[in-house]
Amino acid sequence: MKKIIIVLFLFAQYINAADKVRNYDEQINFIFYLSNKFKVTEIGTISYPNNNYKLYKITYGIPNKNNKKNYLFISGVHGNEIAPIYGMKEFIQYLDSIKIINDIKIDFIYILNPYGFEYNVRHNGNGIDLNRDFINFETYEIKYFINNTKEEKYSGMYDFHEHSATTGFLLYYYSNKNKRLANNILEILQNNNIPLENDYVDAVLKTKNGAIFVPFYAKLYFMNINKQATSGLFFDKINVKEVFVFETPRNMEMAKRIKIVDILLKYLVGI
Ligand SMILES: [Zn+2]
Repeated sequence: MKKIIIVLFLFAQYINAADKVRNYDEQINFIFYLSNKFKVTEIGTISYPNNNYKLYKITYGIPNKNNKKNYLFISGVHGNEIAPIYGMKEFIQYLDSIKIINDIKIDFIYILNPYGFEYNVRHNGNGIDLNRDFINFETYEIKYFINNTKEEKYSGMYDFHEHSATTGFLLYYYSNKNKRLANNILEILQNNNIPLENDYVDAVLKTKNGAIFVPFYAKLYFMNINKQATSGLFFDKINVKEVFVFETPRNMEMAKRIKIVDILLKYLVGI
């Protein structure tokens, strides 16, 4: 009996090891070698039977009430959407290599879903889609994230995702006031020969020239009838002025997707 249990245990270990395709600790190691332009804060530990993950918030710039730009950049909510994870790392290291930019503070939530990142899955270690949990806050990933960002009066929230539905780039925006910014972003991408999505339909919302506008009725539907909320719906609801969710196409080659993330981040911080 004992032997059978040991064999089963070893087999389970083998299955887990076989599924793991990336290493979270290795991927985030660079954050501990950033200069004093950055502050790294541990925000919580996520525990699964075979894995423990520490989550971090990486803050750039000097927190100051007068900062015109107080941004939140998120990557890795879905573990199998990885170009933003690579692109954001390059961007953070680039920021560290240049003169400090005054008048801006950025919180990076870099890889919110470490389990998904390591096992290349959309969901967290309990099979939950974190980007539907911005209403009930049932997962520790989202709980820690919200607890460590809710006091910030962000002027902008940008969540970097990827989609596999089609071949073009698309973004979500939630307020008519951001239409101009949405158009500016899309224009810059077009100037860089990035194809924009035109046909993809999310529930009832159709993509037009790379943009999905989420109107009031859709917000009501998602949050009050469907009882699900994404990062975009949540930060829009708490009145963050600029709320965008970006989706690079997974069908595109990796280098090009990383380039899109780089173009977006540099444009948003004005460099
Ligand atoms: Zn996603």
